[in-house]
Amino acid sequence: NAVVHWFKMDLRHTDNKALALASEKAKEAGVPLIGMYLVSPQDYEAHLRSPPRVDFMLRTLEVLKADLAKLDIPLHVETVEQRKKIPDRILELLEEWGANHLYANMEYEVDELRRETHLVRDLSENGKAFEVVHDTCIVPPGELTSGSGKQYAVYSPWFRAWVAHIHENLDLLELFDPPSKNPDVARKQFAKLFDCPIPDLPENKSLDDEEKKRYRSFWPCGEHEALKRLDKFCEEKISGYAAGRNIPAGNGVSNISVHLAAGTLSARTAVRTARDRNKTKKLNGGNEGIATWISEVAWRDFYKHVLATAPHVCMNKPYKPEYSNIQWSYDQAHFKAWCEGKTGFPIVDAAMRQLNHIGYMHNRCRMIVASFLAKDLLIDWRMGERYFMEHLIDGDFASNNGGWGFSASVGVDPQPYFRIFNPLLQSEKFDPDGEYIRKWLPELKDVKGKAIHEPYGRGAGGIAKKNGYPEPIVEHKNVRERALSAYKEGLAVE
Ligand code: FAD
Repeated sequence: NAVVHWFKMDLRHTDNKALALASEKAKEAGVPLIGMYLVSPQDYEAHLRSPPRVDFMLRTLEVLKADLAKLDIPLHVETVEQRKKIPDRILELLEEWGANHLYANMEYEVDELRRETHLVRDLSENGKAFEVVHDTCIVPPGELTSGSGKQYAVYSPWFRAWVAHIHENLDLLELFDPPSKNPDVARKQFAKLFDCPIPDLPENKSLDDEEKKRYRSFWPCGEHEALKRLDKFCEEKISGYAAGRNIPAGNGVSNISVHLAAGTLSARTAVRTARDRNKTKKLNGGNEGIATWISEVAWRDFYKHVLATAPHVCMNKPYKPEYSNIQWSYDQAHFKAWCEGKTGFPIVDAAMRQLNHIGYMHNRCRMIVASFLAKDLLIDWRMGERYFMEHLIDGDFASNNGGWGFSASVGVDPQPYFRIFNPLLQSEKFDPDGEYIRKWLPELKDVKGKAIHEPYGRGAGGIAKKNGYPEPIVEHKNVRERALSAYKEGLAVE
């Protein structure tokens, strides 16, 4: 007999709610706890999980396996090629291990919810219980409703409700202890599981040696790294976050998203750690940097709440149906230039090169490139959303979809459509010395002064041309007008 915890996007052994509950259950029944992770190449494909992200998760499994082994808890990792076979395979494994209880943390995407619902039914028909609990958000989706009883469609009132709800329910921020040590018999009984290796990257997500080395040096994995990074950020940078967070060249952000996406860190621990450093001991007020950072982590909860209550966003539809009729462009040459960072707009290109090189992009730049794709190039924002997922190491469906919806003005609480970022002004404001641009665009590293923002327009065309840097593929002024008309016309369709 045994109790099983199914790891998914919660690759940590501390502060993991379902794992803690599974451990309690096992202890109560006097049986061992087993950890399980199923690698599904087909699922990774369907959900556009990028190769660096899959690599990050597989590397993290090594850390998790070692942490659990110290508690005599085995972690069984196996590849299930076809995702529709996952439920049957789980049932087989439970039978093999003599386990009647399965635990997991809930994921809110439509496919996952559907799979889990079926699994609850299938397992119960076989006399087994499947407990799926809320863990990934600090406030579970559905808890906060506006006056009309619906999910908020605007962030600010939602955020006030989020803060008030947590202040009234402080247990939402409490840490879950790691699981208890297994009874001695577990080592012998499940010896095979302790020895099972973590598989290599599946073929459809392969990386060459240079890429592996690069991503691994930028993104050390595992929950210990996550906590180290969080503590260092809180120690050194959080107080200056409000001022520094918008400067892509400065190192003012936490770089914690990769850990929240893989679940090597819980949002609970992130927010609790920051709050504890605030002299108010609250989520708001006190230190401006701390309060601002907490309000950013809250966006993650917000977008997950939206996803859970507006599942149509999982189906390639804009949150606001009235934005379904915009006539997008599908110009492949423009899209390719955007993907490769060769649009001739330095801030856009630097950002895309950063994404392509390290699987990450600064938030300000995510907004700039998303706005540029949807509005300056008028390209279907879903193509950009997809490209991001295929390349980000911190890809998260809800935050990515939310960010694209915001920037393309088709999402929940979006940027109004007539507010169109001017890439040149954004560049001058947020990368005033061109430090970020020079870092990512070697072709422009010798361009001096303000010409860095617009080399062809400001007398540095010679250097740019010599080094193969392209001229702008569109003229902002003209395409701005085109975007305004396209949005207006789209909205006018009945
Ligand atoms: P910090 O500034 O230190 O913020 C701390 C944490 O707060 C982040 O790790 C993240 O979990 C959360 N957060 C901050 N800003 C946002 C936001 N706008 N929306 C949701 N959560 C936020 N974030 C992802 O985690 N995965 C994505 O796939 C993703 N795609 C995006 C796409 C677009 C077009 C845009 C505009 C934003 C996207 N974001 C995404 C949000 C944000 O850009 C990243 O979370 C942030 O840049 C990560 O860096 P950090 O951890 O240093 O952030």
